[in-house]
Amino acid sequence: MRVLLVEDDALLLDALSGQLAQQGWDVLTASSVPQARTALQAQAVDGVILDLGLPGGDGMDVLVWARKHITGLPVLILTARDGIEDRVRGLNSGADDYLTKPFDMLELQARLQAMLRRARLPAFGGSLEVEGGGAKSLRLDPVQPLAWLDDVPMELTQREWALLTLLVGNMGQVVSREDVLAVWQTQPIDGSSGGSNALEVYVHRLRRKLQDSGLNIRNVRGLGYMLETESK
Ligand code: CA
Repeated sequence: MRVLLVEDDALLLDALSGQLAQQGWDVLTASSVPQARTALQAQAVDGVILDLGLPGGDGMDVLVWARKHITGLPVLILTARDGIEDRVRGLNSGADDYLTKPFDMLELQARLQAMLRRARLPAFGGSLEVEGGGAKSLRLDPVQPLAWLDDVPMELTQREWALLTLLVGNMGQVVSREDVLAVWQTQPIDGSSGGSNALEVYVHRLRRKLQDSGLNIRNVRGLGYMLETESK
């Protein structure tokens, strides 16, 4: 996985890129807006870590540029403490996630991984449809985000939605508990903590909502969960 790190603080840039590289990331670096743009034009990257306070322009310019020119590029913004205004601006410009300085390296890694995992999900290009065992069809629109069983909208919490998207995006393959929990970490809480017991509860609820759809969430012992067509 290749990531572009945009940060003008030379010490922080060195420290972060060193640690990311050590963890196996292919790291490109830039320390200004023009450098960041040049780097993005020169090479494809899987994601961007973007500092907002940069010389020669605002990091937000990079975000806006990337949104215009590169489809679906995940961007994680680094904001100064209490940079609420930055966060709002970033949200409006379509940032995928935020981290407030100072942050923990482990947290950066976790956020980055979760962000890239999520970014892989809408690889189905806007919407996805899967057929249950001849019974009903399940349709997901990640942009809305909304899910329908035949033409009936499903009522899903954000966590249920995240879980369903993961399962559908990996239909027929096992989704590990760790994958689900990593995605949940970046989601707003919806009334329950995100522990692994909660995961059981959510799977159970989602199964009920998929009842009679012809789709089944199979518990693959020790590994995770898999969405499959129900055998009759
Ligand atoms: Ca800076």
